[in-house]
Amino acid sequence: MRLRNIPSADGIIAESPFCIQNPSSCPDFWKNVFQNENPIHIEIGMGKGDFIIQLAQQNPDINYIGIEKYTSVLLRAVQKLQRLEAAPACLRFLCMDAENLSEVFSPNEVSRIYLNFSDPWPKKRHARRRLTSRQFLSLYDQILSSHGTLEFKTDNKLLFDFSLEELPEAHWNLDSFTYDLHQDAQMNQNNIMTEYEKKFSALGNPIYKFIASR
Ligand code: SAM
Repeated sequence: MRLRNIPSADGIIAESPFCIQNPSSCPDFWKNVFQNENPIHIEIGMGKGDFIIQLAQQNPDINYIGIEKYTSVLLRAVQKLQRLEAAPACLRFLCMDAENLSEVFSPNEVSRIYLNFSDPWPKKRHARRRLTSRQFLSLYDQILSSHGTLEFKTDNKLLFDFSLEELPEAHWNLDSFTYDLHQDAQMNQNNIMTEYEKKFSALGNPIYKFIASR
């Protein structure tokens, strides 16, 4: 998702109390931000933020961090929080490329990573840019706790199958998976639909999901 450039977005994000500037991987950084030691769950490529905002509203005892590369997209999530009567205290946003994750989280600091409808990068020569490539899985390996999980949803069959093949290459275990999330009573329990999920399931596309761990 890349919205038209919005010139004011950079300034609004730099000033927003919901967006963390100059994050660091110092061990106490996130404890100080949230003023607690609750588990940290992150969503990478959160887009306009519907999914993580709802998660944070439902689970105040988890610290959520939404990560998005483009300010023009993140701005929409910030505006959603501004419109709420009470923004969840357990939610913050980071504007950054996921390539730099190890600069903002210390080893084992994250308990869960969500990837929703990640960009497919269909050309083979761009495979390493896919957020489920073995290169990104190795990055997640560095920041995820030993019992941590990775949850991935997409409607893109090629990307899903590619991701299933990458897991063992990077020494991950496939804990559960479905080729039709919305018809799978167990995996669909408490499912929160993302923006893209609503859009693509309305077109009749099945949604694929897996949960993986090390
Ligand atoms: N997750 C949302 C959903 O399901 O509705 C948005 C999906 S959209 C197709 C993918 C998002 O991931 C885009 O907003 C894009 O800017 C972001 N993104 C892609 N690569 C990224 C990266 N390396 N680091 C951070 N965000 C990234």
